[in-house]
Amino acid sequence: MKGEERLRAYRGKRDFGRTPEPSGGLKQHSKKPIFVIQKHAASTLHYDFRLEIGRVLKSWAVPKGPSTDPGVKRLAVPTEDHPTEYAYFEGVIPAGQYGAGTVQVWDIGTYRNLKEIPLERAFEEGHITFWLEGKKLRGGYALMRTGRGWLLVKMNDDYADADRDPVSAQPESALTGRTIEEVAAGR
Ligand code: MN
Repeated sequence: MKGEERLRAYRGKRDFGRTPEPSGGLKQHSKKPIFVIQKHAASTLHYDFRLEIGRVLKSWAVPKGPSTDPGVKRLAVPTEDHPTEYAYFEGVIPAGQYGAGTVQVWDIGTYRNLKEIPLERAFEEGHITFWLEGKKLRGGYALMRTGRGWLLVKMNDDYADADRDPVSAQPESALTGRTIEEVAAGR
């Protein structure tokens, strides 16, 4: 898909007169591509993992959130491309709207492609590896398409840590320091 068509699915699901989410455009964020992980208390709680690839945020819903343990594979369900501005969205999607519930920026930062082929191509081939420079997550991660869907796995490097559980130990927003309950309450 080319141009603004990439955001058609995103825009088609939302009424921007009702949701505070950005309608957004195709934009490169900066010289370094960004990633964001948004904790989303929708009908079921999940973590939306988004990587800037080709001027949009490629997105996966990770029910259990990321792990720092290389022995743990986390299911990652592909969702529609989001505009890059979405990386800074933290707030409440009103009842009745798509994805109704609270969104918190759980982690944000830049990343680099660890493969020698362009990330867009690696994505199409269903296997990407990248190095995160976030506030909570650092180091190499892989996202791979398998017969049962995509999986998110920590790579074995200095930042791998089977004893760490950042999802439960570091619940605060990487942007504002707020808990998701404080975001929900508009504080
Ligand atoms: Mn979501």
